[in-house]
Amino acid sequence: MARRNKIYEGKAKILYEGPEPGTLVQYFKDDATAYNAEKHDVIDGKGVLNNRLSEFFMTGLNGIGVPTHFIRRLNMREQLVRACEIIPLEVVVRNVAAGSMAKRLGMEEGTPLPRPIVEYHYKDDALGDPLVTEEHIAAFGWASQQDLDDMLSLALRVNDFLSGVMVAVGIRLVDFKIEIGRHYEGDFQRLIVADEISPDSCRLWDIQTGQRLDKDVFRRDLGNLSDAYTEVARRLGVMPKNASVGTKPHLIN
Ligand code: 5GP
Repeated sequence: MARRNKIYEGKAKILYEGPEPGTLVQYFKDDATAYNAEKHDVIDGKGVLNNRLSEFFMTGLNGIGVPTHFIRRLNMREQLVRACEIIPLEVVVRNVAAGSMAKRLGMEEGTPLPRPIVEYHYKDDALGDPLVTEEHIAAFGWASQQDLDDMLSLALRVNDFLSGVMVAVGIRLVDFKIEIGRHYEGDFQRLIVADEISPDSCRLWDIQTGQRLDKDVFRRDLGNLSDAYTEVARRLGVMPKNASVGTKPHLIN
């Protein structure tokens, strides 16, 4: 069978040319990396879980009118997505102080924020994805003022949706990162949520116990990453209720 054209390979995903113009196939790998790939491991089944979880979140967003790149899941590890031009920014939304913001500002992790805070980080692994301001973004032409308005609105809508979905299953959405792309339809351009939304790109804490159910489990050596992601999938109904946690993920099709 002829191998598809690989367009791009990142740390956790591969993009292949899609079956129709304007589409791509997004493949989820099992690789986990942290601290700019200084820490690396292969977590059996992570790609399968993230494919399914990202499908779940993107489908929900499409359903409430937040445009995303997601078209449909193809199989256990692949999904069909709309091709778009990724804006070179990581858009981070925070509801609770944690991670790099807690460190930068000397705040205790877990401190609730007075309102959601949106940050932009320039996507550059070699520089460690540095925090940038709207001034940098406008001056260097990474996005226009209209793009910035649209990105802010998209980020806050994603936050409202994800926070609600998570709180319903006893999980606090502490923060998350999204990537946004320019999608062209004829003469029109609109911004869409791209990449993935999964426990790799969110901080998810159990509301009762504070247990980490996200990639910090790997970054900080807090236990078994596959168990944590399986628990998120199980609570969201992506997994059958009686699925055992801790072994290979068993997913509903
Ligand atoms: P922080 O800036 O505190 O390290 O990260 C804030 C949020 O964005 C966390 O939920 C984190 O998982 C996510 N995030 C930030 N940078 C990246 C990245 O390069 N890759 C992924 N997957 N998530 C990121």
